[in-house]
Amino acid sequence: MLTISDVACPVCGCVCDDLQLTVDGSRVVRAERACALAEPWFLAQSSVTRPAAEIDGEPADIDRAIVIAADLLRSTRAPLIYGLSRSSTGGQQAAVKLADHLGATIDTTASLCHGPSIMAMQAVGESTCTLGEISTRADLVIFWGCNPAASHPRHAERYSAFPRCDFLPNGRADRTIVMIGDERDVHAWRLDRDDARPDWVIPIEPDRDFEAISVLRALVRGVSFRDQCLPESTLYSLTELARRMKSCRYGVVFFGLGLTATDFHRPPRASGLGHLNVENLLRLVTELNDFARFHARRMRLYGDVSGADSVLCWQTGYPFAVNLSRGYPRYNPGEFSANDLLTRGEPDACVLIGSETLGQFSSQALDHLRRIPVILLDYPATTPIIEPTVRFTTAVYGLHAPGTAYRMDEIPIAYRASLPAPWPTDEAVLKQLMERLAQN
Ligand code: SF4
Repeated sequence: MLTISDVACPVCGCVCDDLQLTVDGSRVVRAERACALAEPWFLAQSSVTRPAAEIDGEPADIDRAIVIAADLLRSTRAPLIYGLSRSSTGGQQAAVKLADHLGATIDTTASLCHGPSIMAMQAVGESTCTLGEISTRADLVIFWGCNPAASHPRHAERYSAFPRCDFLPNGRADRTIVMIGDERDVHAWRLDRDDARPDWVIPIEPDRDFEAISVLRALVRGVSFRDQCLPESTLYSLTELARRMKSCRYGVVFFGLGLTATDFHRPPRASGLGHLNVENLLRLVTELNDFARFHARRMRLYGDVSGADSVLCWQTGYPFAVNLSRGYPRYNPGEFSANDLLTRGEPDACVLIGSETLGQFSSQALDHLRRIPVILLDYPATTPIIEPTVRFTTAVYGLHAPGTAYRMDEIPIAYRASLPAPWPTDEAVLKQLMERLAQN
């Protein structure tokens, strides 16, 4: 048995880096400090065996699979490369290089989650801070459109509710925690798995977030609000919240998919204007800095979705939905977002780097994916909802391979390898694919 400390968890955007794994041969038998999401994931990953390459569902030699995949890509005219949030910086960089070589469209899972937030930040800017700063200073913490207990179970413990420090010596007792969101589910929201409740819950009618933020902006400016655009009880709560926002020392709003209008668990909202909700929130936060230090931060879902955006920005100038067919990058969410492209039936081949978000695609997009050649690079325990033409099983970053992930606050965290792996990394596969394509 081997005990490995300070392991970073790749399961969600918190990237907690204090886990302790007990390893027996090629299996993880214990994962201490892993949350309810992470523990089963660690234990399941270690026990699965799968061939490194498959062609049409049959095990294949990896060199043969590279040749077949390269031949498929060579004959395409409008390929799509999508995913990247399960990857690491090296794999993401290799994916952009492949997209550049092919003249492909490259998109990340951000287009299905916080894409609208990114567009809002491009319009009005963002005042950033780290989760470390929040854990030591924030005495007013607001969660808007997100349920951290379900999506980020250790967020409250590590960053937002319970840490004790010089500025907040009593931890949770020194903080006011507010949850705002859809009235259909906000009362069920919790801070963490121990059933810790927020101090204050403000239910909002579905799709009325924009109005609620606008009212808050007016209240913060001292405008007395008589408009009946929101129920009286909501107006009263928002009036009290505006007062608290102006009197706190340090405030932060963590916002999730309930605000960006791309809720994974419900059909897309009728408005489709989530970027305007976020833009309004960012303007509110800017205005609150006249009274107190204030920030807004995204609750990012997947392990390294922030890294995928960062690498695409670094390599192409744009964070997602980038088309390289003209030899230079063009950015246009909607036109070049993976789901929209596939729904319109435009790509003639697809390289999927991680299939964890396929279930969020439209049925037309999935139908089109089933009609075109798909080259999938994914983790051993994953069974995708489509049958790829060529599948490469790749080492899991943070378990089988070292790497770098960007936490939800864009802080890079080093991944360690804890287990031996029979699989190459996605970076190695993509580089082999590039070498093969460059040969002819
Ligand atoms: S909160 Fe997220 S990063 Fe932390 S242990 Fe749980 S799944 Fe892993």
